[in-house]
Amino acid sequence: MAQARASLYGRIRECTGCLLHRTRTNAVPGEGPMPADVMFVGEAPGMHEDRQGRPFVGAAGNFLTELIGEAGWRREDVYICNVLKCRPPGNRDPLPAEIEACNDFLEEQIALVDPLLIVSLGRYSMARYFPNAKISRVHGQHRVIDDRYFVPMFHPAAALHQANLRQTIVEDFRKLPALLEQARTLRKPADEGPVSEPEQMRLFD
Ligand code: SF4
Repeated sequence: MAQARASLYGRIRECTGCLLHRTRTNAVPGEGPMPADVMFVGEAPGMHEDRQGRPFVGAAGNFLTELIGEAGWRREDVYICNVLKCRPPGNRDPLPAEIEACNDFLEEQIALVDPLLIVSLGRYSMARYFPNAKISRVHGQHRVIDDRYFVPMFHPAAALHQANLRQTIVEDFRKLPALLEQARTLRKPADEGPVSEPEQMRLFD
């Protein structure tokens, strides 16, 4: 696993797959254990992440660490990355072509981390799975995709700029441990009896 991670991170750091490689200081592959039960996927590195080569290290990162604590977990026990591995200039929104160019890296990360629960942070990581969903309607609610739970959340930075979102995102994070336990039943060994079909949300359809 360490070799697969080193190979992936090395290819990300050298990637010239889209124009963002010209303006980045550092690519930001991601961090955390592989495998991990829980994987957070944000949108793209910001200024602090670009400087340090680590995901979620600015004010939004500090808030994410606090939110992970609200779920009763430690940051070092979950995997954290972004849809894009390089910073868009001026923190502009990711472009569709950039998301497409970077997609194989995220797919490879998901395969290596093999999470039970994927939590998207913000519209662009949610849209990767559900292009027509509205984050204001579906945040904090889960859907089963293959053998994983997927839960869209507001981006922590949004809560920093909109005080009324802060309590909403805290409450959403507090629901995650129960969803993780539900997600474990999807991989219950066959000799432990039939897997109870978890409720499947249709909110994204
Ligand atoms: S954003 Fe992704 S595709 Fe674009 S240069 Fe960085 S690693 Fe490569």
